[in-house]
Amino acid sequence: MTNITPSALPKFSHIIPENIEAIIKQAISKNNNEIKKLLNNSTPYTWGNLMAPLEEMNDQLSKCWAPISHMHAVVETDALRAAYKACLPILSDYYTDLMQNELLYKAIQSIAESPVYSTFHPAQRKIIANDLRDFKLAGVDLAPQDKICYGELQKKLSQLSTQFSENILDATHAWTLHVTERENLAGLSDEALELSAQNAKERQLTGWVFTLDYPSYSSFIKYAENRELRHVLYEAYATRASDQGPHAGRWDNTPIMDSILKARHELAQLLGFHNFAEYSLATKMAETPEKVLAFLHDLVVKSKPFGEKDIHALREFAKEVDGLEQLEAWDVPYYTEKLRKTRYALSQEDCRPYFPIHKVMKGMFAIVNKLYGLKIVERHDVDTWHPQVQFFEVYDEEGQLRGCLYTDLYARSHKREGAWMDDCQGRRRLVEGNIQVPIAFLTCNFTRPLENKSALLTHEEVLTLFHEFGHCLHHILTQVDFLGVSGINGVAWDAVEFPSQFFEFWCWDKEALKLLSGHYETGEPLPDALYEKLMAAKNFQAGMHMLRQLEFSLFDFRMHLEYDPTIGGRIQALLDEVRSEVSVMSAPRFNRFQNTFSHVFAGGYAAGYYSYKWAEVLSSDAFSKFEEHGIFDPKTGREFLHHILEQGGTREPMDLFIAFRGREPSIVPLLQHSGLM
Ligand SMILES: [Zn+2]
Repeated sequence: MTNITPSALPKFSHIIPENIEAIIKQAISKNNNEIKKLLNNSTPYTWGNLMAPLEEMNDQLSKCWAPISHMHAVVETDALRAAYKACLPILSDYYTDLMQNELLYKAIQSIAESPVYSTFHPAQRKIIANDLRDFKLAGVDLAPQDKICYGELQKKLSQLSTQFSENILDATHAWTLHVTERENLAGLSDEALELSAQNAKERQLTGWVFTLDYPSYSSFIKYAENRELRHVLYEAYATRASDQGPHAGRWDNTPIMDSILKARHELAQLLGFHNFAEYSLATKMAETPEKVLAFLHDLVVKSKPFGEKDIHALREFAKEVDGLEQLEAWDVPYYTEKLRKTRYALSQEDCRPYFPIHKVMKGMFAIVNKLYGLKIVERHDVDTWHPQVQFFEVYDEEGQLRGCLYTDLYARSHKREGAWMDDCQGRRRLVEGNIQVPIAFLTCNFTRPLENKSALLTHEEVLTLFHEFGHCLHHILTQVDFLGVSGINGVAWDAVEFPSQFFEFWCWDKEALKLLSGHYETGEPLPDALYEKLMAAKNFQAGMHMLRQLEFSLFDFRMHLEYDPTIGGRIQALLDEVRSEVSVMSAPRFNRFQNTFSHVFAGGYAAGYYSYKWAEVLSSDAFSKFEEHGIFDPKTGREFLHHILEQGGTREPMDLFIAFRGREPSIVPLLQHSGLM
């Protein structure tokens, strides 16, 4: 059992922001020279004289950048931010030039066409296939005129999505709800009152100010008893950046959305696709638009009766408690919260004393020991970026070091919000023959523990930790020797969340929770009564929730699939159509949710929003095999390890799934786990 030499790890404490830009520039110019040299080759291109050196140089660059970019996210300083910002365009230009390099593209293509190609390892063939695909999607083999057109469309799309986001920001900030009478605020929490009083003070106003930022908006729409004001707030929120509502026509995103759809359609056609939905699927697990649509429609049919039951229960409840005759959109969040409280009387805070973090981590490591035979050992002699950071080595049952991880779990200032996993370095076989072990960063933002005490987590936070650790395992346990498809590299977008969502299931299992919990004073595991409550509340309004996600998914996908340049986007009409199929409650006529649908118009989810549900089907169905054989069954655990976690992006996710499950994925386990059966 050889452990990692600390000298092989990044020296976080030695990073000097002032030097970063020069270091990155130097690394890039070294790579550019190297690429030029490689392409000056007169002998035939091979893996050894082209692909291996390319892997080496790109690995050097990303290992140089990874700790910098990570520190920028978790221990930001002015100097670090300046250096980071200076490097971004340089890196972006480097990668754009790389993907537009025709000589490089042709050189890789010549390897794919050479006789030795068939003797390559499947991972090598997959890397070459992915590379050629990505070069093509970047427009490398277009005719010169089309190339110009491609560049212009990309530029236009980037401007349009920036404009889309700016309009939302401006519209969100431009409107506030100013309340001067205390009685209009009945129902709100002390925290919400304090925050809104603060908002008022900042604006030199008396009373309370609510904004359209989500935390402020949701605190009011969920808890304020004043129905009139909820209506006013809802209308302002649901009409941001549109032709409706208090700021109708200012910052209106409608024409921008139409232009985005048009440009995406043109881009897809330029690259030889019928539409943008097809283009989007070129890098995803779902094979055809028909498959995506059939998948979504099927879920709609199965979930609709449950969504109808949910909304019926909500209507009845509103009638019963307040005599409400007509439940409106601005009543839904309010009565939902009330009903949740009445039915379950469960607060996340109730669970906290049972989840001290050291107990949760110990239990989590015990679970992966049972499932995969892993042994996880903490080390204290490595350099990190903050005293709260911990470092672990992950060994398999043969005592082989498989990888390492840094955990950085607590919130503090100058640290980005949220939780995520990032890779510090990936697994690959070095030229000398030894293995570079994969290393992951696991970042969360839990409440910091008091001195000498263990941090106490809510059950939601335990889920978050498991989710991110699931990503880490996917990255660390890979056995692939080629960087391009090792770990999470080269894994299709709609399959990336599979191992992370999958690992969350253990947080809902009674037996597993016994390992994970222990009261911080008495050591007592999570009591049965609390467990029952947790399980009962788990699927509250699951039907409505599922339908909402399906509405977004279908709207997004059909909008890109059915785009017709002769009639334009038909955005509202299409959304109305989708809603009439999916929704269990009609939206107000003024509702313009689509005008702030940033995932799709300003993010990476265009014709890909369905991915969330797609990956959930995989994770639910994979977990159901454990339900059949026992959730700690070592044989099933090893099968998941070998067929999924070790494989990285070497094969299509569907093939990997079938190898593990013995058949194609079924939506039934997802419906069962969500209480929709
Ligand atoms: Zn994730």
